[in-house]
Amino acid sequence: MTDTNDHHHDRVDEAVAERADWARRRREDIPTDESLLVVACMDERIPVAEVLGLELGDAQIYRNAGGKVTDDVIRSAALTTNFFDTDEIIVINHTDCGMMSAPDAAVRDGLEAQAGDLRDVDLDPSLPALNIGDADVIDWVKMTDDIDEACAAQVEYLRQSELIPDSVTVSGYVYEVESGELREPGDRIAAEISERRP
Ligand SMILES: [Zn+2]
Repeated sequence: MTDTNDHHHDRVDEAVAERADWARRRREDIPTDESLLVVACMDERIPVAEVLGLELGDAQIYRNAGGKVTDDVIRSAALTTNFFDTDEIIVINHTDCGMMSAPDAAVRDGLEAQAGDLRDVDLDPSLPALNIGDADVIDWVKMTDDIDEACAAQVEYLRQSELIPDSVTVSGYVYEVESGELREPGDRIAAEISERRP
């Protein structure tokens, strides 16, 4: 998770370590350089701008179920990093995520009850060729067993994407809804808030 030369990353690390210092830096208008993309879960409890100290205009923010690197996150990240000077991406996942709230079988059954055979369902109405095909619908839904592992994986997906320049810095954090704090993936305090319930 390290690129210690990068400004945003350093700033966020300091926020995790020292909230008071972060508040001071925010008063000094850091960060404010419009070169950041944040990918975060759409969960209504996550105050994305607040935890990163962002003001309106500081960052582009993409939110979806789970804060997962889907094809549309790759699309959005590819466009902003190649054409809009964005040079950093931060992924924010969180404890108690809805993506850990149900077993795979229940999710599969629920979607099949709605849509029938999932192999032919249009994933993008304007691009009918894009369908699940022989892939597992659960891999598309991206249910999560362990939020720390999932966060680290999303970072790797972005780093490894051929569509995103290697110069882009990617880092990930887990937001703890219980404490209102960000932390590095792997620094979890309790398994029961970070893993899928059986
Ligand atoms: Zn979530």
